Amino acid sequence: MKAGIHPVYETRGFHCYGCGTEWSTRTTLKPHTTDGKIHLDICSACHPFFTGKQKLMDKAGRVDRFRKRYAKLKPEVAPEVAPETTPNG
Ligand SMILES: [Zn+2]
Repeated sequence: MKAGIHPVYETRGFHCYGCGTEWSTRTTLKPHTTDGKIHLDICSACHPFFTGKQKLMDKAGRVDRFRKRYAKLKPEVAPEVAPETTPNG
């Protein structure tokens, strides 16, 4: 390998904020925290694609805001359905 052009490839600890799982693997990623670990928001142990369960990632409360906004738009009176007329009647 040519010297000075390759990133450092080393074993690092990974941590998932979503489920708390920790594991270690080799990576070129640099940790942004002082504990030397790579922190992820979601991993294969908790991602809905792998678990098959829906999980709401709603840090900013956007879903609640959406529900509040559209709860007001519900019609107060249900539209009446016209009684069906029989053609032979
Ligand atoms: Zn996870």
